[in-house]
Amino acid sequence: MTTVVTGGSGFVGRRLSLIKPNWKYVSSKDCDLTNAAMVAEMFGDLKPSSVVHLAARVGGIKDNIENQADFFYINTMMNTNVVHQAYKSGIKRVLSSLSTCAFPEELQYFPFDEDQIYNGAPTVTNFSYGMTKRMLHVSSCAYRNQYGMNYSTFCPSNIYGPGDNFGSHASHFVAALVHKIYNAEENDTIEMWGTGLPLRQQLYVDDLCKIIPILLEEHNTDVPLIVAPSENLSILEMTRTLIEQTGKNVRTLFNGDMDGQFRKDGSNERLLKLTGPFEFTTFREGVSKTYNWYSENYNE
Ligand code: NAP
Repeated sequence: MTTVVTGGSGFVGRRLSLIKPNWKYVSSKDCDLTNAAMVAEMFGDLKPSSVVHLAARVGGIKDNIENQADFFYINTMMNTNVVHQAYKSGIKRVLSSLSTCAFPEELQYFPFDEDQIYNGAPTVTNFSYGMTKRMLHVSSCAYRNQYGMNYSTFCPSNIYGPGDNFGSHASHFVAALVHKIYNAEENDTIEMWGTGLPLRQQLYVDDLCKIIPILLEEHNTDVPLIVAPSENLSILEMTRTLIEQTGKNVRTLFNGDMDGQFRKDGSNERLLKLTGPFEFTTFREGVSKTYNWYSENYNE
């Protein structure tokens, strides 16, 4: 009984391998998932009983805006191949990662729930990526409905933590923040995108990695289960929390550009019904661990 994890060399995949070392972790070097024949061959060789599909072309707002065609093509091809070739190889269980970016920009209530996924377009800053994630959900449901497969999906909010993609074009907010603050000199003013006002849920990566094995066992429905902590902080609050913890005298200047959605917090009510009580890592604790990890492993 083997579980194969696609995206095994990525941020989440590498952390998951610490919790589930016996699963098989596949990177693009092992198998280009945009190539159907290679995916079929990989499933034939490894003969998994289940697949955790994490591989994706992922990035920050700027990357998403500038490379929309890449996001569309790579994600569409990978998702289609993983789901279809899993079906053709007789793999009955596929758990795929979407993102809360798949949800509409305009939401009727907050925190929004899973029922809202098709009630409007994803935000323009990650439209292409968000739509490919929706289609991954559509395909999982389609193979579930037509062929009786246990294919299901979950939607993490923003993820951060040790091992994140720091300082690269693919950096998300917390990783970019840690990189900037760590590399700032005393009395520096660092430039930040946006106004600092938008609210975001930040999911500590090891929390997600503890939840994934539970979902693999228990999540057998067509609900795109939201995985997010209840804590929903502004960019400014998160920035202050980290600066305060480092004790550095650093000022911030928000440039007003590219804020993205004002809020996009999802409800974890259905998730917690499935997992039972789960204590999410607070941002204060998680960002401190992330900063320490960065300072020990990743400084340039
Ligand atoms: P990541 O660090 O960017 O890793 C992406 C993974 O996808 C890598 O293992 C990469 O392999 C693989 N990949 C890319 N193109 C491939 C291809 N053509 N063939 C095979 N593998 C390919 O991503 P992550 O942050 O771990 O994200 C994991 C999942 O969580 C994704 O589905 C993402 O959409 C979702 N998610 C992430 C966040 C977040 O904040 N990070 C938030 C919500 C949802 P190589 O290393 O070999 O290139």
